[in-house]
Amino acid sequence: MSPTKPEGGDLHNHLSGAVTTEHLIQLAGENGLCIDATDTAVRPPCGPGTRPAADARTDAEFRQRIVRAWSMQDFPADQPGHDHFFDTFGKFGEATRDRGKMLANVADTVVEQNQFYLETLVTPASDAAKKLAESVGYDADLAAFHRKLVAGGKLDGVVREADAADAQFRETAHCDTGRPAPGCRLPVRWISQVSRGSSNERVFTQMAVGMRLAERDPRFVAVNLVQPEDGESALRNYRLQMRMLQYLRTQYPDARLTLHAGELTPGLVKPEDLTFHIREAVQVAGAERIGHGVDLVREDDWQQLARTMARRGVAVEVPFSSNKQILGVAGDDHPFNAYRRYGVPVVLATDDPGVSRIDISHEYQYARATYGLSYTELKDLARASLEHAFLDGHSLWASGSARTGYRPVRACTGSRPGVAPPAPACARHLADNAKAATEWRQEAAFAGFERRQGGAR
Ligand SMILES: [Zn+2]
Repeated sequence: MSPTKPEGGDLHNHLSGAVTTEHLIQLAGENGLCIDATDTAVRPPCGPGTRPAADARTDAEFRQRIVRAWSMQDFPADQPGHDHFFDTFGKFGEATRDRGKMLANVADTVVEQNQFYLETLVTPASDAAKKLAESVGYDADLAAFHRKLVAGGKLDGVVREADAADAQFRETAHCDTGRPAPGCRLPVRWISQVSRGSSNERVFTQMAVGMRLAERDPRFVAVNLVQPEDGESALRNYRLQMRMLQYLRTQYPDARLTLHAGELTPGLVKPEDLTFHIREAVQVAGAERIGHGVDLVREDDWQQLARTMARRGVAVEVPFSSNKQILGVAGDDHPFNAYRRYGVPVVLATDDPGVSRIDISHEYQYARATYGLSYTELKDLARASLEHAFLDGHSLWASGSARTGYRPVRACTGSRPGVAPPAPACARHLADNAKAATEWRQEAAFAGFERRQGGAR
């Protein structure tokens, strides 16, 4: 009996940025880490000028200092948050080695928020990928470069090192006991991060690792580029990186692709850098979803771009708090309504809820309060976030968009989620299609929520 309405799935969630800061501090303490003078977690032993992170258990002032350094807590609203936001990852990085423990923290939050699905971003086998990239070296002939990475099973060796941390997660969340944590029942998929600010050989190698992994390991589904899009080498190599992805898509057609693109504003970059990032992500790299897309209306012929995204069903992942904190973009300056006007699918996401000190409910409330969305419009946002998930199988919907309305597939027409069990044909459809089954669970939750609200809209 959750008081919150159903809120879809989170499709844009960086695992280390999603963990609550308090939990990161706890992990730092458990692992005996030290905090240095710049509030960065470092490995023990704790030398001069550092303090054991465990001191934060008893010293509230110390704890609060770390919370401010590792998140946007108390950050002045009238100052640009870009640098502080991105700097947090370097400060708490050493505390983020226990992926399974972090997922246990995040998955419980996602379930408590009445969400039904999570795609979370991590960088798999990053040390091994780095070694491979350096040993092979860059080759501007991308096909030749890829052949060299694959040769002798080298790439597969890196892929085998990728770990979804299932064992640690299940142990931490007590999934195999009589009292499993709520997060145990959450379907989770992983997206492999590529550090776009790295050297060309490392970027390409990480892309190849992520895409090969997405084809070999059902827990991993997609690739995404991370690190600030306005970084010097990220800007310089943007077009090249889109071509790398374009090439690798021909080698790994089953790997899915979502890209941070257009997380930019005037002043942050020079004007021409605002004119093509989303377009190239969609049209060159073939991204199926775009993260942020904040500079949409600065792109060349952006209306045509928006129409292309609508036609192809390329969704945009919108994290309002992150956009406000990093870019200072909010309200009417945000392209949220522009995307919706052109029929581009929009999904709400958290990005880094731990750093931002928010949750997905906060983002839905922001959408409602800022853009005056109705209950039905919020419901469509939640539905869209499952419809555009990289989950296996077919959808519950024959036609699934805010524009056309959500009509079930023929097998499920007449079945009523949350009211009666699915008819036999529908039950088969749900059993065969993980996406449809997840959507059904949300529809059942909507039915329950609406009953409790007395049919309130
Ligand atoms: Zn992001």
